Amino acid sequence: MSNLIEIKNLLKKYSDKKVIDGINLSIKKGEVVVLLGPSGCGKSTLLRTINGLESIQNGEIIFHGKNIHGKNTDWKKIREKIGMVFQNYELFPHLNVIDNILLAPTKIQKRDKKEVLIQAEELLKKVGLEDRKFSYPRELSGGQKQRIAIVRALCMNPEVMLFDEVTASLDPEMVREVLDVILNLAKSGMTMFIVTHEMGFAKLVANRIIFLENGKICEESDPKEFFSNPKTQRAKEFLNIFQYEN
Ligand code: ADP
Ligand code: MG
Repeated sequence: MSNLIEIKNLLKKYSDKKVIDGINLSIKKGEVVVLLGPSGCGKSTLLRTINGLESIQNGEIIFHGKNIHGKNTDWKKIREKIGMVFQNYELFPHLNVIDNILLAPTKIQKRDKKEVLIQAEELLKKVGLEDRKFSYPRELSGGQKQRIAIVRALCMNPEVMLFDEVTASLDPEMVREVLDVILNLAKSGMTMFIVTHEMGFAKLVANRIIFLENGKICEESDPKEFFSNPKTQRAKEFLNIFQYEN
């Protein structure tokens, strides 16, 4: 299968500090890549450079054969194709669920409201929230808000989804319902690049694990291999942190 995203020699610095230090990485269409690594190693920064939330100092990110960090990139257009969901659900508090979902497809993509509404209702059903169409974010649990945030991103018809620790601020009983949504997306063939601290989920959903350390790829493995027999000492130490979860 062909590469959907190709990252070449990526360098990102904050003042003099190299936060992303020469990363090369490709993601194929339909592939689910999970990015792991200790706090501060650059996971969020890497994801954010992929949809233009961070500038870069060197290298390329190729999407549809074009370096999106080159000149004249229309990031609005790119972000329609590269969806992202963050740790903190960023629903508009003054809009109900359906208006949150319809906003970008109708205003940015200028799509027909009736058509988007049908799609939104289908997606809401898939995440088990078809009865919350008219709820406001404040009336929803954290897990419900995150599922809505995912639906909102999917309603743009993205080609790839980036997830940055989307369950990190959820109570444990809500983590599962959000991870199930992402697992179903994987089954449907969605290309995804996921940062998570849920190791059981990572093992289950990933086609490939990337372990990052100080802005560099330290290990790149098949998930079974990574979790049973990590190649590097750093990855072994990292996995030991999660030993109580197994
Ligand atoms: P992770 O998501 O793996 O925890 P981040 O990508 O958030 O790591 O951060 C990587 C490094 O970049 C950290 O050392 C962090 O302190 C630094 N960093 C992140 N954002 C900024 C910023 N806006 N300005 C300066 N340094 C930053
Ligand atoms: Mg982070």
